[in-house]
Amino acid sequence: MNGNGENGNKSNLTLYIFSSIVLAIIVALFFPHFAESFHVGGELFLRLLKMMVVPLVVTSVMSGILGLGDIRKLGKPGGYAVLYYLATTILAVFIGLAVVNIIQPGVGTIDQATLEKVADEQAGKKPGMESATISAILNNLLLMLVTDNLVSSAAETNLLPLIVFSIVFAGLLTTMGPKVSAITELIHQANSAFMSFILLIMKLAPVGIFCLVTARFGQAQSDGKLLETLSQTGLYSLTVLVGLSIHAFITIPAILWFFTKRNPYRFMLQMGQALLTAFSTASSSATLPVTMECAIDKAKISPKSTDFVLPLGATINMDGTALYEATAAIFIAQAIGMDLGLLQQLTVAVTATLAAIGAAGIPEAGLVTMVIVLNAVGIPVEYIGLILSVDWLLDRFRTTVNVLGDSAGAAIIDKTL
Ligand code: ASP
Repeated sequence: MNGNGENGNKSNLTLYIFSSIVLAIIVALFFPHFAESFHVGGELFLRLLKMMVVPLVVTSVMSGILGLGDIRKLGKPGGYAVLYYLATTILAVFIGLAVVNIIQPGVGTIDQATLEKVADEQAGKKPGMESATISAILNNLLLMLVTDNLVSSAAETNLLPLIVFSIVFAGLLTTMGPKVSAITELIHQANSAFMSFILLIMKLAPVGIFCLVTARFGQAQSDGKLLETLSQTGLYSLTVLVGLSIHAFITIPAILWFFTKRNPYRFMLQMGQALLTAFSTASSSATLPVTMECAIDKAKISPKSTDFVLPLGATINMDGTALYEATAAIFIAQAIGMDLGLLQQLTVAVTATLAAIGAAGIPEAGLVTMVIVLNAVGIPVEYIGLILSVDWLLDRFRTTVNVLGDSAGAAIIDKTL
């Protein structure tokens, strides 16, 4: 209908969200206690988004498979999707390794006393982190695909088994003919109803996002830590941000352009609301409803590809997390004076890729799975304390890159359908 007016409203919304993030940070810096009082508003918005994740994933994946008509048709795009996820994650890891080896943020920046203090503190807090071998990690990843209880997976927003179930269930429906036409129709209708629900929630986004961001930054500021943390971990944070920027502004755009001939930067603007929501929530899962809405509505990617590429991507495709895990592990090694050779750096690359695949799309999940990377090359886990203070902030940037990678993947797979 009123195409131009509608587009105008949509880009206005992105602008409103962007402005509310800037305003939120300013308020947090100058009035941290006041900013903290917005916590409830932020939590409300986050809950609304999270509430939609499980129903949306189940209906959209099923609806996507039903739309393909025949489960065997999933093979090609499914294969491309997995190939894309793996290739971009590995690229991201290598960018991280290159940047951290060139800038060397850990070398000589942390004195012995700080190292000892950090190690002592963390040793007390994190006892008994098991060592992880690559085969144990692979076994774990395999087990993560299937659940013994669908309801508890749904309750824990454990998306991977839900996606596997939805693919198989919908695939089965496609073979059952007219006797399941009512349930097939129900799934399609539920899916579009959920999408409309998300549009409704997005109307609250500028306010919700303001509350989320200002409360979190305000908390850091009133702990007196925001600028202090940034200056202490400055070079490390900068290294991570440089790596993420290279991946976000050069690698992904180049791949997107190569396969789709789309203008990658316009694509980023189209996905703007999703990227800003990712920054604000630090969770690709919570952002998923917005990512899907933007992909279909603004980036004009067909629901056929968004329906399964995005939910799967939000769960297993984490370029930003992989890049961050590799960078952080090498930073810690540099800081404690461990010299990692080529083989060990390769081990970091492999385990960072696996750790990113295994990380859930929730805030600071990457920090937890990083234990895998540290263990693999024998870096004492206690030293994770060196990067703890700034993780909540870097998490936002890497989540944004995760969501960008997923969205570009959907656009690329769309071309192959
Ligand atoms: N917060 C990230 C995400 O949801 C995961 C992580 O790197 O911690 O995508």
